[in-house]
Amino acid sequence: GEAATMFRHRRALAALVVAALAASASAFVPSLHSPLNAARLSAASAPRGLLPGRVGASLATGLPLRAGRAHVGPMMQSAGAVTPENPLKVIVAGGGVGGMFLAKALQKKGIEVEVLEKTNKFARFGGPIQLASNALATIKGIDENLFDRVMKKFTFTGTRTNGIKDGIRTQWYTKFNAISDMADYFTLPYTGVIDRPDLQELLLDEIGGDDTVRRDAEVVKYEQLPGCEGVRATLKDGTQVTGDVLVGSDGIWSAIRAQMWDQDSRGPKSGTTYSGYTCFAGDTIQRTDYYFDVGYQVYIGPGKYFVTSDVGRGRTQWYAFLALPEGSKSRASNKDYLYELFNDGPEGRWSEEVFKVLDATPDDQIDQRDLFDRPPSVLRSWSDGHVTMIGDAVHPMMPNLGQGGCQAIEDAYVLAEKMGGVTDRSQIQGTLSSFYRERLPRTAICQGLSRLASDLIVSAFDTPYQPASQDDRFGPLGGPLSINSIFTALLRPFMGAIFYAQFGYLYTFHPKKCTKEEIEVLVDEVMTRHRVDAEAVWERVGLTGKDEQAENREGSGLSFR
Ligand SMILES: Cc1cc2nc3c(=O)[nH]c(=O)nc-3n(C[C@H](O)[C@H](O)[C@H](O)COP(=O)(O)OP(=O)(O)OC[C@H]3O[C@@H](n4cnc5c(N)ncnc54)[C@H](O)[C@@H]3O)c2cc1C
Repeated sequence: GEAATMFRHRRALAALVVAALAASASAFVPSLHSPLNAARLSAASAPRGLLPGRVGASLATGLPLRAGRAHVGPMMQSAGAVTPENPLKVIVAGGGVGGMFLAKALQKKGIEVEVLEKTNKFARFGGPIQLASNALATIKGIDENLFDRVMKKFTFTGTRTNGIKDGIRTQWYTKFNAISDMADYFTLPYTGVIDRPDLQELLLDEIGGDDTVRRDAEVVKYEQLPGCEGVRATLKDGTQVTGDVLVGSDGIWSAIRAQMWDQDSRGPKSGTTYSGYTCFAGDTIQRTDYYFDVGYQVYIGPGKYFVTSDVGRGRTQWYAFLALPEGSKSRASNKDYLYELFNDGPEGRWSEEVFKVLDATPDDQIDQRDLFDRPPSVLRSWSDGHVTMIGDAVHPMMPNLGQGGCQAIEDAYVLAEKMGGVTDRSQIQGTLSSFYRERLPRTAICQGLSRLASDLIVSAFDTPYQPASQDDRFGPLGGPLSINSIFTALLRPFMGAIFYAQFGYLYTFHPKKCTKEEIEVLVDEVMTRHRVDAEAVWERVGLTGKDEQAENREGSGLSFR
């Protein structure tokens, strides 16, 4: 009887080991198929037999040793063991939102980081970026001190009225109460905005400045090294940099993605296509009756929409989204062009609130940018051997949800958490695979929702139909009498539920919550500073007549990216 029990136990144990190995191996299936990885595996066969048994086999194949890790004692420490004397080194290609947060998160795990950034200096450029509650809870999860520093430069919009307005009638169509209600439900900090240059400077300081970031360092290719030696990145000037892992956080025109997926980094063979939409953006200092009560407003109407958001320091950022052919950029005056478009719809001139921000924005402060995106990469691995990707490099999305940067921050957090658990370099390949498998569904949903939102709002939404009793400009039947207008009116009662579902889903990712008391203190501090700053800027502009934003952006060219 005892022998039979032992046999059953052994069989169960063996089954468990086989299941664990199969599960680990399955994590590699897509990357094993890549030609580069096949080459790496054959190159890696050289060390087979140098180390005994499973350790040697693991080094040779790159398969993890999870099931047998307990057997590798100090006497048999693998050559790839991660120790304080031999820590992991991660090369991060691209010092944008994702790359900088990743650098900070990895450093917190005791991992060495080198950021290779294509541009030669961190000029203060780029407009404000919205960080939603999920991203703020992630930043808090990465580092409490970093979160506190972000809050010192932050403006909450989620505490105020936000929503969609009828762009012609200037009436609320629906309000996004879900933004604050869902943040309250999960006890998360409220959504808000921060200037990209402020965020960039702060992160640069947090990760050790020039000691960590190499500028003028455009990565042009990478090469997997045999066994657990890692990966080598080559820069445009021929310099080579080696590390255990290379992370492509090099944005929508990623060179890392181009090599991994054998595509061009941009153009018709890149897989990144023009979305059909272009976006104008500008910001201006303006004082409105509702400045302190309203966060952001989306004005809808025929064939286009307009967004304004308070971005702190008395300023309003705005975007105009239009369906135009690619490369429609050259024209004498963006301001005149927009003025004409928004002045002359079939139902008449758009809201005076739209014209107020347009009027107050100098022409040379208005930029246009064509918007590109990619379908979710569901069937392709984001990881190849010791290389993986985060952010726009692998899941660029339309800006309508304001989640592109937020998802890059979530990627950074998850990747760092997983890398922090690596005790031997033979686990790297499996770790990178499990990272992308975890991130793929959520980022794909965000990509899909963002795309759906832009298609709906530009192509399906219109001025909502109203009966003549509410709007008599269209005759006895009311109007406008288009399918889109009727659709927009019919959808209205469901909008609240749709947004509760959307924000509820987005905020389910929250590595570190706040307490209710913390949130109260934060809101008080941030919004008191917000009021004082805005009034000071308005007074100053009134005194000098100068545009503060123009001074900040000297020589930068772009106001957003
Ligand atoms: C109009 C607009 C508004 C948006 N608003 C929001 C918002 O409110 N909230 C939000 O969360 N997201 C927003 N986004 C999306 C957000 O900007 C991006 O998702 C985010 O910047 C992605 O971060 P990233 O680090 O992946 O890429 P990026 O921020 O693009 O950074 C990539 C970096 O890599 C560098 N680089 C490029 N190639 C190389 C190379 N070969 N070697 C080395 N370095 C390289 C670049 O110079 C750059 O610094 C918006 C986007 C647009 C277009």
